[in-house]
Amino acid sequence: MKYYSSRKFDLVVVGSGLAGSAAACFATRRGLRVAQVSASGGEMAFASGVLDVLHIFPPGEQKHWDNPWEGVAALAAASPQHPYARLGVGTIREAVEEFVEFLRGAGLEYRGLPDRNVTIPTAAGTSKTTYRVPQSMWNGVVAMDGKLPALLVDFTGMKDFNAGMIAEVLRPEWPDLRSVRVPFPKPLMGVDRPNLMLAEALESEDVLARFAEAVWPHLGNARVIGMPAVLGLRSAPQAVADLEERLGVGVFEIPTLPPSVPGCRLREAIDAALVRDGAKVLQDRRALSVRTEGRRCTGIVTGAEEWRETLEADGIVLATGRFLGGGLSASQEGIAETLFGLPVTHPGERRLWHRDRFLDHRGHPVNEAGLEIDDRFRPLGRGGAFAFENVFAAGSILAHQDWVRTKSGAGLAVSTALAAVEAFLRLRSGG
Ligand SMILES: Cc1cc2nc3c(=O)[nH]c(=O)nc-3n(C[C@H](O)[C@H](O)[C@H](O)COP(=O)(O)OP(=O)(O)OC[C@H]3O[C@@H](n4cnc5c(N)ncnc54)[C@H](O)[C@@H]3O)c2cc1C
Repeated sequence: MKYYSSRKFDLVVVGSGLAGSAAACFATRRGLRVAQVSASGGEMAFASGVLDVLHIFPPGEQKHWDNPWEGVAALAAASPQHPYARLGVGTIREAVEEFVEFLRGAGLEYRGLPDRNVTIPTAAGTSKTTYRVPQSMWNGVVAMDGKLPALLVDFTGMKDFNAGMIAEVLRPEWPDLRSVRVPFPKPLMGVDRPNLMLAEALESEDVLARFAEAVWPHLGNARVIGMPAVLGLRSAPQAVADLEERLGVGVFEIPTLPPSVPGCRLREAIDAALVRDGAKVLQDRRALSVRTEGRRCTGIVTGAEEWRETLEADGIVLATGRFLGGGLSASQEGIAETLFGLPVTHPGERRLWHRDRFLDHRGHPVNEAGLEIDDRFRPLGRGGAFAFENVFAAGSILAHQDWVRTKSGAGLAVSTALAAVEAFLRLRSGG
């Protein structure tokens, strides 16, 4: 026998990637009673923790934009179906600014330059251009821009971060770059050095002090030290400040491969702030089905084997992502939206999904698969009109955008989340 229950909210957000999290944040800040339900909290742990708005457009030409807003304007003019084109530069900018302010209130400071993208080194020895970086990465922006004498540090036993390799790859453009490998300053179980384990250990002042002692003899002329982004799970800026004081030079973090500690910091800080602001954050809860009455969705059904809970709501934000998140699934028959069964725009026959070359700069047609929406960010049904008057979609599940190729992930997630929440508020007020 199953146990049934229900709770009532103003807005239920399905998904806790960047889009769902931003939607929950915007909605709680506007006084709504919000529940956020998510099958996993995982995807953000893959992300580097930096916030892109737009760097490359069109991807086929590899045109790089120093000013992301000029890039967004060019994209909107050339791609009228892209979600950015529905919003315009002003709304996207407001959304990103509000989200950065929310993160500050959640204890995560982000930095950048007015109307400019900035560039940081990556663990692959390449450079990454983005709009806003965590405070703990900022000295990397300054050092890379000024080609300051720098020392890159890694730890014995780390598998996916090699300071020597990064220095070697970057040295032709950044000549005064050296590297050193030091033993991790605390004995750890096992031979691997997983990022989260290192970050946990580096929460301790004592471990930081021993790390500084190990690096000190190698400083030479370095004015700044770069290291993998493992400076604590919660308190990276304090750890950076602590090391800077001990060593007398600037310190910065370099994003690592997943699992990414800055991504985990983002996840933890956002969840804590949402709970603090009164949202119900329901992690590890899959939305199993939906309740509908005509063209209204009245609730989301969640649960497990022996119980079901209906989250009743006046509005729903669908932010379930694409294939990685689970919002879309692909089979021989085509591509399906997994919760409502909404129609998905995609390139058609499977042989048309991908180009011949895997790394084709233009991306693959399937990368732009997703939901069609109306001007209020409501997914369209089979007839071409909105499917439900109170269901709104946000984030990577939307069609006609390739956030990976255009380097626009966070901007797209956050700005469409704001649009979805604002559209719900307009519906509620009868507009
Ligand atoms: C490897 C990687 C690198 C990245 N790097 C960057 C970067 O450098 N810069 C940047 O700006 N952004 C980066 N991002 C983040 C990126 O901006 C966002 O992940 C992307 O925009 C998609 O966000 P989303 O919220 O739309 O979907 P997702 O992040 O895919 O989230 C979807 C959510 O929906 C949930 N879900 C799906 N189905 C259900 C269901 N039935 N019930 C309940 N929950 C469900 C999933 O559990 C998940 O929480 C990166 C992401 C990844 C994965």
